[in-house]
Amino acid sequence: MNYDVIIIGGGPSGLTAGIYASRARLKTLLIESVSIPCQAVTTDHIENYPGFPDGVNGFELIEKFKVQAMKFGTEFVSDEVKDIKESKPGWQIVTEDKTYTALSVIIATGASPKRLDVPGEDKFRGRGVSYCGTCDGALFKDKEVVVVGGGDTALEEAIFLTRFAKKVTVIHRRNALRGTKILQERAAANKKIEFIWDSVVSEIVGANKVTGVKIKNVKTNAGTDFSCGGVFIFVGYAPNTDFLKNELSRDESGYVIVDDNCLTSKPGIFACGDCRKKLLKQVVTACGDGAIAAFSCQHYLESKA
Ligand code: NAP
Repeated sequence: MNYDVIIIGGGPSGLTAGIYASRARLKTLLIESVSIPCQAVTTDHIENYPGFPDGVNGFELIEKFKVQAMKFGTEFVSDEVKDIKESKPGWQIVTEDKTYTALSVIIATGASPKRLDVPGEDKFRGRGVSYCGTCDGALFKDKEVVVVGGGDTALEEAIFLTRFAKKVTVIHRRNALRGTKILQERAAANKKIEFIWDSVVSEIVGANKVTGVKIKNVKTNAGTDFSCGGVFIFVGYAPNTDFLKNELSRDESGYVIVDDNCLTSKPGIFACGDCRKKLLKQVVTACGDGAIAAFSCQHYLESKA
């Protein structure tokens, strides 16, 4: 076995697991995806992570986590994990063109934005359709944009987009928002933000780029055409767990099922952060999970020694 533990995923939970595993003197490799950035990295301003009363940029916070994990000895590699296979006394982690082996595994692969699944979404992706305001917001200077969704992400991103856009219209399928009250208050007070309630986007239209959306009121079934230069979709997340195939128990949405100690259905494999089934998905809970997963992993390895 090359490693005591391999951590898959370089977000808050994976990096915290790296810090704890390395401090426990476990030989630790963290495999981070190039193609799927963690959500925190694409968050402009995180204001509910303790210790930063003025908030902190997500990219900067994650860089600090990474420096800390490296300092204690976590090794890093960028690769895409395709499979995990049992290989006694541990596991094989199969990537695009390499196989790593470890006595234990911590899965910290997070979750990715869900698609809206409407005509035009794929056609205009990168040409007006976006899933990340922090990444693409500046491209919409003085334009009118639409935000789809009513959760924390939609509200945070709508507020962020007002830095660039002339107007931001939040289209939500109900008449009550899901997002945290403080974000609701801020969005409601922002003069650049308007809301369209009880409505869904049924199509994204344009020529070379997005020029508008078709909206359907879910109560009246009335359809309207709405002009806009961009569509930001924030309708929740799906866990990045497809690579697990049937190796571990997952719920109907694909979230990995773990016990209180972050142990999955297979001894020696732990899961933490947004890829696991849990109530509250935040940077702070991801970090807590990462610490628990690494500590459980340490105990598991000691019991096998
Ligand atoms: P979310 O909480 O699942 O909200 C998704 C939103 O999209 C909901 O308002 C939902 O409507 C709507 N939606 C879902 N499918 C839709 C569809 N097909 N068409 C139209 N609308 C649709 O997702 P999220 O906002 O990305 O947040 C994910 C997690 O991250 C949450 O736990 C959240 O608290 C957390 N988060 C926290 C912060 C923060 O603390 N600052 C920031 C970002 C995210 P309904 O309301 O009708 O279901």
